[in-house]
Order: sequence, then C-alpha cells, then structure tokens
Amino acid sequence: MNTKNIVVIEGDGIGPDIVAESIKVLRKIEEISDIKFNFSYYEAGGIAIDKYGNPLPKETLDACKKADAVILGAVGGPKWDDLEGNKRPEKALLGLRGGLGLFANLRPAILHRQLKDACPLKEKIIGDSLDIMIVRELTSGIYFGKRGRNVADKSAYDTMYYNEEEIERILRVGFDISLSRDKKVCVVDKANILESSRLWREVTKRVAKDYSDVEYTFLYVDNAAMQLVRNPKQFDVIITSNMFGDILSDEASMLTGSIGMLPSASIGGNNALYEPIHGSAPDIAGQDKANPIATILSMAMMLRHSFGMEKEAQKVEKAVDRALTEGYRTGDIFSKGMKLVGTKEMGNIIANYIK
Ligand code: NAD
Repeated sequence: MNTKNIVVIEGDGIGPDIVAESIKVLRKIEEISDIKFNFSYYEAGGIAIDKYGNPLPKETLDACKKADAVILGAVGGPKWDDLEGNKRPEKALLGLRGGLGLFANLRPAILHRQLKDACPLKEKIIGDSLDIMIVRELTSGIYFGKRGRNVADKSAYDTMYYNEEEIERILRVGFDISLSRDKKVCVVDKANILESSRLWREVTKRVAKDYSDVEYTFLYVDNAAMQLVRNPKQFDVIITSNMFGDILSDEASMLTGSIGMLPSASIGGNNALYEPIHGSAPDIAGQDKANPIATILSMAMMLRHSFGMEKEAQKVEKAVDRALTEGYRTGDIFSKGMKLVGTKEMGNIIANYIK
C-alpha cells in the first residue's frame, strides 16, 4: 500500500464546505487504486487568529513541511478585515508559500465547453473551449523585493528583484509542463523597460536550448493583457513573474466564467500546496451553496503533480466533465434548464462518477 500523508487546512468561510467534497473524491480514488491517504487537519487563517492569535501557527507550518502534500480551502473574511497587515488571515498564505519554498504557482484557466455561455468573449473568439496554463513565479520579484518609505521626501519604493537561479527554476517548471501539452511557451515580461525582464529573456534563451521541441515566444505584459481577450487561444503555457502572473491569471480566470471552477497548485519545494483560486466567499459560507469543483480539480492536480497518478487525475477531471455534461450546476454556474444542486450533492455526484 502506497501511503501519502496530507495536511488539510480548511480555513474560513466556505473552506470547510469545499474541502469536505475534495476529501470525498480522494476517498473514492483510494477505492480504485492502491493509494491510501492519511489526512491530518490543522488550522490557519481567521480561525487560527481566533484560537491562537496567529494566522499561521508554527504547529501548522511544521506539519505542512513534513506532509507529502497540503490541501487548503480558503482564508479570510469580514470579521478579520480591520486587523493590521501582518496579523490578517491572508498572511497565512504568504507564510505557507515562503515556508514551504513554493516558488511556482500553476493556474490553469480552463473554459469547459458546457459552460461556454458563461465566457464574456464572443464565440468566434473562444470557439468551443479554452485551456491555458499560467505558470507564475511566487516567492520573488516585486512582492518580495526591498521596499520602504522615505519620510523626508514623502516617497515610497518597491524593488523588482530576480536572480538567474530564481528565473531558471520557474522557467524549467513551465517548459517541463509544456512538454505534456502543446509544447508552446510564451514568456511574459516588460523587457523594453525593465532590466530584470531583460535578464529573464537571457535566461529563457539559455534554458530553451534544453527543450528543442518547445516553441517559445516573448510578449510584453501590456500586450499579453490585450491578447488574452483578443485571441486567448494563441496561448498554451504562459510563464511570468510574480506580479505580472498575479494580474494576468485573474484576467484569464474571468474568461472561464466562474471563479468556482478554477484550481491551482503551488509547487517547487519538497511538497506542494493545492487550493482553489477563489477566496472564502463569506456570503455563502455554510449554506451548501459553494461550488466545490475548483477544489476537486485541485485534487486532480495533486494526483498528477505530487503523486504521478496521471490516470487517476484524468478520472477526476472526467467525472467533473460528466457532471457538467449531465446538467448538474451549483448556483454560480446555473443557467435555465440545468439541474441546481448544492455543494454536497455536487461532491457526491462527482465522486460517484469516478470509476
Ligand atoms: P471570493 O473569491 O471569496 O468571492 C468572490 C465572489 O465569488 C463572491 O460572490 C463569492 O460568493 C463567489 N464565490 C467564490 N468562490 C465560490 C465558489 N466556490 N462557489 C460559488 N461562488 C463562489 O473573493 P472576495 O469576496 O474578494 O474575498 C472574500 C475573502 O476571501 C476575503 O477575506 C479575501 O481576503 C479572502 N481571499 C482568500 C483567498 C485564499 O484563501 N486563497 C483568495 C482570495 C480572497
């Protein structure tokens, strides 16, 4: 028996609702494979602030470091909005990424053909579906560079810093992923202005020599933002820095209709963290209304990227596809003529379709 130790952090708001459904799906995977999951539950986010006065207790981070993978629901909510920056629930996210060395964030932007009416772009642009993988650098760049304020001249600054090693490792993640896709990489930067972007280009040209099958291009970030709505189908894998990836991945998520559909993986350290891209949706927490599909698809990413279980990952994705094809919809993706279901029922249906 192949046993994997998973730390589960439900977090706040709809976190517990959606995580419960992803566990159902993994239990089903246990039934059809020789894997066994040991789940240990830990706290982070607002709930940890209430209990321990700390959004990321040391015990949680230590457990995550030892685990084979981490599942995270979402953190945050209005109750903690007035706390100062480093005491807020969201601080747990930065602490987990930094503490686990998760330097690569994989955010697929997939528009399922059954939901194409939810895409704000015209059908002639989007066609039947969309499948872009955005690979975002997560632990360096302007979000981690030197920053400060100068009282004398009333100024403030942030620094976009990258070294070659940081650039090379994220590029290799993206190029490797492209090998199992369309072998097309677009590196997004601002090399007409930024020196750090020019370094990205130099390193890209060197790394690309190891991937002779992969076609690569460069695009300035302003153009990339425009191309994502003008002709998103030109993209397969986008690799980019922390801030550009933050902005472009949110733009791309809008093309797919609902935030409740999009999974993510943060990888790079000894283990990896899997979470939906949405937040804690306090407006629908505990009401059986949340769409669990983003979290369930994050489990498919976990099976694929952490455990090399491609066949099982595809079974999860096919089960989601079948639930959508048969017309099951949570409120966020509901349209006339479809069957409205709650969080739990959607989880049950998907788990039952995994064979
Ligand atoms: P949100 O993603 O929580 O919600 C935005 C809208 O989308 C809401 O109307 C919500 O009901 C809906 N929604 C989100 N997920 C859904 C799902 N699975 N099914 C159906 N509908 C869904 O973003 P927000 O309202 O800006 O933030 C709420 C809280 O979450 C804030 O405290 C924010 O800081 C936090 N947040 C956490 C994370 C994270 O934990 N990774 C990410 C983003 C925001």
